[in-house]
Amino acid sequence: MVIARLAALVAVTAALVQCAPDRGHPATPSPATPSPATPTAAEPAPETFRTVPRPPQTPPPPTAGPAEISSVTAADLGSTWRAGCPLPPERLRQVELDYRGFDGQTHRGQLVVHEDLTGEVIDVFAELYRIGYPIERMRTVENYPDADDELSMRDNNTSAFNCRDIPGTGQWSYHAYGRAIDVNPRLNPFVDRRGDYQPANAARWVDRTRTEPGMLHDGDAAVLAFTDRGWTWGGHWRTPLDYQHFELP
Ligand SMILES: [Zn+2]
Repeated sequence: MVIARLAALVAVTAALVQCAPDRGHPATPSPATPSPATPTAAEPAPETFRTVPRPPQTPPPPTAGPAEISSVTAADLGSTWRAGCPLPPERLRQVELDYRGFDGQTHRGQLVVHEDLTGEVIDVFAELYRIGYPIERMRTVENYPDADDELSMRDNNTSAFNCRDIPGTGQWSYHAYGRAIDVNPRLNPFVDRRGDYQPANAARWVDRTRTEPGMLHDGDAAVLAFTDRGWTWGGHWRTPLDYQHFELP
């Protein structure tokens, strides 16, 4: 009898074990698998990552390197100066300063300006550098044959002093006093009342609805870098329009 009962119990137990999966216990196999342990172990990793200090969101504004001011002689000025010019070379200075190229890199350029304006010019170009306004070239105009302004403009060369008159007037230009600067002149041409323009290779940029790096438009930070400091912009004139030209009488 005892043996028979034991046999019956074993049979019932076996049936229960066999039936268990059929009655639906999906949780039964889960604890046996190691998968829940994997995310638990991985969780601390992201928290550790989040505690790593991040770099600043925006880098500090770039600062132009120090400018250098030097005196100039008639020999230094070459064909930009001649006897009869309104200022002697002693009243002029060469300013060497940093500018941002169209390649985004820092370049060194030279401007010859009136001795009273060196600080002004350094401030303006430090601001242009800070805002990232690109300038293609900046070298003094005696680097072009006969200090020809047209050649300098065609080369999109930014320049200041040149002892020349205002075309067609016989009056000295402010450039002859080192009190005017032409910026990216090919991108910012001179346009007279008839619509003729200089330099000759600037046709594309006579259309001032264009917006391209280096072009100057009313209200641009690059224009304000001058006009906020009291300079006059030729783009504000009625005629001619001289988008490259800033002067400080
Ligand atoms: Zn000019």
